[in-house]
Amino acid sequence: DTIVLSDLAKRMGIKANEMIQKLIGLGVMVTVNQTIDFDTAVLVASEFDYELERASFEEESILSETTEKDDPAKLTERSPVVTIMGHVDHGKTSLLDVIRKTRITEIEAGGITQHIGAYNVSTDNGQITFLDTPGHEAFTSMRARGAKVTDLVVLVVAADDGVMPQTVEAINHSKAAGVPIIVAVNKIDKANADTDRVVRELSEQGLVPEDWGGDTIFVKVSAKQNQGIDNLLEMILLQSEVLELKANADKLAKGYVVESKLDSGRGSVATVLVQEGTLHAGNSVVCGIHHGKIRAMLNDRGVQVESAGPSIPVEVIGLSGVPNAGDELIAVSDDKSAKQVSVHRVQKQRAKELAKTSRMSLEKLFEKMKEGEVKELNLIIKADVHGSIEAITDSLVKLSNEEVTIHVVHSATGTITESDVSLAAVSDAIIIGFNVRPTPKVQAFASEEHVDMRFYNVIYNAIKDIQDAIVGMMASTY
Ligand code: GDP
Repeated sequence: DTIVLSDLAKRMGIKANEMIQKLIGLGVMVTVNQTIDFDTAVLVASEFDYELERASFEEESILSETTEKDDPAKLTERSPVVTIMGHVDHGKTSLLDVIRKTRITEIEAGGITQHIGAYNVSTDNGQITFLDTPGHEAFTSMRARGAKVTDLVVLVVAADDGVMPQTVEAINHSKAAGVPIIVAVNKIDKANADTDRVVRELSEQGLVPEDWGGDTIFVKVSAKQNQGIDNLLEMILLQSEVLELKANADKLAKGYVVESKLDSGRGSVATVLVQEGTLHAGNSVVCGIHHGKIRAMLNDRGVQVESAGPSIPVEVIGLSGVPNAGDELIAVSDDKSAKQVSVHRVQKQRAKELAKTSRMSLEKLFEKMKEGEVKELNLIIKADVHGSIEAITDSLVKLSNEEVTIHVVHSATGTITESDVSLAAVSDAIIIGFNVRPTPKVQAFASEEHVDMRFYNVIYNAIKDIQDAIVGMMASTY
């Protein structure tokens, strides 16, 4: 059992150099790319107050073949993975459909398009993969599971309706994830379409087109009349060139589950979007807490394939159970290793449930500030009226001091939704509800995710709580 030093350092969140220094101190001479054995790893880990379990060490060493850092020389270009977001009825589904129908040229037997959760289209300038579940809820719930799948967001805004609440949510969710946005102004065929209004309203949200001095790409389309779609695809490819998306296709595969189900005939069926390496039929894999040997793979046209490289979605059959969307799939060298990791993960899952409780809460803020763990307090503010949001935001942001910066990740009028809770979970934010309350279902979701929600009807009380929390007074009041 060995592990590459840089891997171990990365997993422990320690700089490789510091680890090397410590090892030298212990009389072990290694470089970043060399491997160390379990006993040495335990020794150096303890120097950093870490306890290394053999089981978890073995998992790391089994998986390190796949997760190891790539030699830059082995990286090749991969196509972008795109999620479409926007307000309800602005045309997300129509856009996905028109792209799928008109850009998938091979008509397969029967001409049936398979909805497997993602599809890949070819254009003259390259390929693009679209995730088939539009909207920021799916996007953020995947992120909450640690899956960074989307390279680019296409924000759809209907030209006859302009920027709406879910448009703003989508922008904030994309920004929180650091994913660039391309704007598709849709429904330009409509008589009451007003593109200028869309541009103006989006500019207020920080999305400014190039001819207004900004750097956001705007494309005018009509999903209904199949107008401007080629241009949109071209712009997606242009923008992704800037991102320099690359992956090593020549190794064991790693990817994420984007959709899964239990099929009565085929058993567990999972759509996996490969991120790195190449997945082959017959590979032994670990997927979430499950494992298996891939019995068959189908592409988005329902055709059986033998392999899938980076950015390619495939349906995978042969897993021991149904994984969750957002679970990672990793190919390993043999069945035994796959099973070993899966067993260990089931055990670890319980530990993880406990770890969730360490999310941000106002009570813990001061403690974490003192330990230098947090420098930023993220807030999501929901209120009944817009005026309150402004008043609360202004007063709360002013509380920022040398120790902590208060940052509003998202604010909107209306009740607190599951999507707010997901966003809070991924951005370690606290939700402030002013004259609004969540439904019991959302409340339950928040407590499951250990997201701290606070409700007020007097602004002063909200300010006072945050102020108290910052100076460590909170404990005495609870
Ligand atoms: P989603 O909720 O964002 O997925 O929106 P849909 O794709 O379901 O579209 C909502 C409605 O807008 C449907 O009735 C579509 O036919 C219509 N629609 C979508 N795109 C266009 C367009 O470009 N022009 C016009 N006139 N209608 C559109």
